[in-house]
Amino acid sequence: MNALSIRATLASVAALAVAAPALAQDNGELNLYSSRHYDTDERLYSDFEDQTGITINRIEGNADELIARLQAEGENSPADVFLTVDTSRLERAKDAGILQAVESDLLEERVPGQYQDSDNQWFGFSLRGRIIFYDKTDVENPPATYMDLASDDYEGQVCIRSSTNTYNQTLLASIIENEGAEAARTWAQGVVDNMARAPQGGDTDQLRGIVSGECDLAVSNTYYFARAIASDVDGVSGSLDQIGWVFPNQDSYGAHVNLSGGGIAANAPNRENAVAFLEYLASDSAQQYFAAGNNEYPVVEGVETTEAVDELGEFQADTVDLSAVAKQLPTAQEIFNEVGWE
Ligand code: FE
Repeated sequence: MNALSIRATLASVAALAVAAPALAQDNGELNLYSSRHYDTDERLYSDFEDQTGITINRIEGNADELIARLQAEGENSPADVFLTVDTSRLERAKDAGILQAVESDLLEERVPGQYQDSDNQWFGFSLRGRIIFYDKTDVENPPATYMDLASDDYEGQVCIRSSTNTYNQTLLASIIENEGAEAARTWAQGVVDNMARAPQGGDTDQLRGIVSGECDLAVSNTYYFARAIASDVDGVSGSLDQIGWVFPNQDSYGAHVNLSGGGIAANAPNRENAVAFLEYLASDSAQQYFAAGNNEYPVVEGVETTEAVDELGEFQADTVDLSAVAKQLPTAQEIFNEVGWE
């Protein structure tokens, strides 16, 4: 490179440096650590960028790996926002010290209190029910409550995944919070006694078990079944007519719901942008995309759900405070160990 071309390069760099701040929409960045990966998220993020002029940099990965990464990065972490699924993971992130409190009138107003951390370190943005599915050809009187799953009537019929699964951990924690530890222990023991097989696979595999005839009853999150309605899920979609479902506890405290959500990283370098992003997630349009991405329910009332979700019908969700439920997670783990729930 000769002297002239160096000068030319420097001049163009200078021109760029001057030009950059003149751009109408350059309000910096937002570094998003997320374990989400859904098609509708593209629109979710691009709408935010268009509205705010903030560029989103996404780092996607497995939730537990992201928590570990945030911990390892410590004070130097570039993370602004952490998004994940399940109250137990949100609580684990809080316990790991990777989140910080957010005081936002808008979030307080839009996100119902039972779906927020009591210290405002995490907020739920969509809901999934954890409900009972059954084989319509074999089960005349399906369970109406979670407690019923432990009844002698259903011996050898129940398929449910392992106790290492966060969804089951939060479900049991909610039963502890609603009915007390003793009742929860009796319940867990009864479910183990009623298992059709040793816990295996994911929620979709429990639904497949109904179709294959291995399971008369299965516990699954709502979105796995909605996904089988909306798309082609091997071993489930071809036999939808065979599968019935019950939103449990409709005459008492309602069906257990869990969260997808997130919070602001403890050392967020772009904190203002992070607050703006969480507030955006509570807006009607973002709520719709956020929930639709995984066939979930928006936390903000009156926001539209997908057609597949609508097919599941309306239900009463448990209104228990999920932050209080999260405090029961250690007891839930003890109970799982005691009753030998694999
Ligand atoms: Fe899932």
